[in-house]
Amino acid sequence: MAKILAIGEVANGIPKKATREITSVGRSLGEVHTLVLGTQAEAAASEVARHGAEVIYAVESSDYNGEAWSQMAAQIVREGGYEIVLIPHSWAGRDVSARLATLLDSAVISDAVEIHNEGGRIKIKKPVYSGKAFVWLKSTAAIQVVTVRPNSQKIEENPGAGKLEKRQLDLSKVKARQISFIPQKSTRVSLTEADIVVSAGRGIKGPENLYLIENLADVLGAGMGATRAVVDAGWCDHTLQVGQTGVTVSPTLYIAVGISGAIQHLAGMGSSKYIVAINKDPDAPIFKVATYGVVDDLFQVVPPLTEEFKQMLGK
Ligand SMILES: Cc1cc2nc3c(=O)[nH]c(=O)nc-3n(C[C@H](O)[C@H](O)[C@H](O)COP(=O)(O)OP(=O)(O)OC[C@H]3O[C@@H](n4cnc5c(N)ncnc54)[C@H](O)[C@@H]3O)c2cc1C
Repeated sequence: MAKILAIGEVANGIPKKATREITSVGRSLGEVHTLVLGTQAEAAASEVARHGAEVIYAVESSDYNGEAWSQMAAQIVREGGYEIVLIPHSWAGRDVSARLATLLDSAVISDAVEIHNEGGRIKIKKPVYSGKAFVWLKSTAAIQVVTVRPNSQKIEENPGAGKLEKRQLDLSKVKARQISFIPQKSTRVSLTEADIVVSAGRGIKGPENLYLIENLADVLGAGMGATRAVVDAGWCDHTLQVGQTGVTVSPTLYIAVGISGAIQHLAGMGSSKYIVAINKDPDAPIFKVATYGVVDDLFQVVPPLTEEFKQMLGK
């Protein structure tokens, strides 16, 4: 059976959703052990075990440090003789995976939306050309390092033994350190982890109308996104940009409001399970990828829709 190490983040004792996803998919591919790094890492052990981890390495880390995290991961991979490493294709995961692959003299195959184990060799499917096509990739490296797109895998309950091993980060040889941390002001669910995302396009006309999208997102407990047109106009923060040059999201439900559906935007949300588009132009390209489309003026549609959800959800 393949020996797999899943590497994920934990915040205040709660494993990130992507950490549970890679543990769960690891379990379906072989024997999975999970390395969790972050704050109150030990407290995350039982939750990670619930999704299949036989062993949990808990590493307390108050600040993200790609150098130290990848060195710790490399040490565990070598000691444990792991053949496959799974890491979320998140901001931190992309950094750690590249550093780790270098330390292990390996290579990364990245952004998997589907993963198979074929006799110990990992085969992944990943979107290319802004989501216009897919490729299948196989790693030929001795230690296969794979990043997995958040929200692309099922989270199953399949308990593992959950043996806890505590490890300590060695920061003494680290050459770059974080000197301050500025948290985002928003209390909304993180865009990349959200199960529902509501995004604003230029159709909202101006920043004074952003509240329409915020209200709908808040009623649904959704993350909020935007197109580059909205971000470039300065109507909202650039961290909300979804697309080729922004973040990639893969929620169960993506609601695109006043968004034309340019290929660069589709690159960041095209793998969403259900897409609902609200646009007054019936020829807008977003309708080609939408599961459901509303051809109408968003200013007429969004307020009653928000009100309806409020009542339905008792908010
Ligand atoms: C190299 C490169 C990288 C890029 N990266 C990204 C990226 O990461 N993310 C991204 O989003 N874009 C990106 N872009 C920009 C992209 O090409 C588009 O310009 C952008 O996505 C358009 O944003 P939009 O849909 O908000 O605006 P528009 O294309 O202007 O569309 C607005 C839509 O709103 C509709 N509308 C107007 N009024 C209403 C109304 N009252 N009710 C309902 N609908 C209405 C219109 O019919 C229209 O379809 C990139 C471009 C380049 C060249």
